Amino acid sequence: MEKSRRVARLKEKYNKCLECEVLVKNRTNIVFGVGDPDTCKVVIIGEAPGMNEDIKMEPFVGRSGQILDSLLADIGLKREGVYITNTILCRPPNNRNPNRGELNNCRKRLDMQIKLLDPRVVITLGNFASRYMLDTNDGITEIHGKAHEVNGVKIVPMFHPAVLLYSGNNPEKRKELLDDFMVVKGILSDR
Ligand code: SF4
Repeated sequence: MEKSRRVARLKEKYNKCLECEVLVKNRTNIVFGVGDPDTCKVVIIGEAPGMNEDIKMEPFVGRSGQILDSLLADIGLKREGVYITNTILCRPPNNRNPNRGELNNCRKRLDMQIKLLDPRVVITLGNFASRYMLDTNDGITEIHGKAHEVNGVKIVPMFHPAVLLYSGNNPEKRKELLDDFMVVKGILSDR
């Protein structure tokens, strides 16, 4: 069976998930992920859906999403060429961080999604997703741009694209972000 059909089955399984009581009440939609499972070589993991993502059912929309798209383009990738999801699938109230119980509830889905997609590399975007996926207390400033191997999966943690907005589109900050994406480009070109 192709990856896309297996991922579609997983999505169907979580389509009406009721595991996290608070999130179920707060969400409009479940934001499972976007991308072509059959062709993607990169999986991107963010923290959780925000207000726009919850409505549009797509991770990383809005200005952060535009920055992400432009950084991907700089290493020769399009949004359609990667698969994007989050540590949890449902929007937390007031955009708070997911709590431990919610992360645990959604972890089986995330691990299965990564396993089915079988990417060459996983990018974790932002402090929260990076620390969670690498199971570390180190901050993103210390760990970004370095490839880590976790249970056979290559993970490159990166700053959240929104840092560029907070920096007033500072060219040096953009270069710092792009340098991390170049690490991914190097992994993809490494045979
Ligand atoms: S966050 Fe995950 S586990 Fe929790 S309700 Fe949503 S889909 Fe289910």
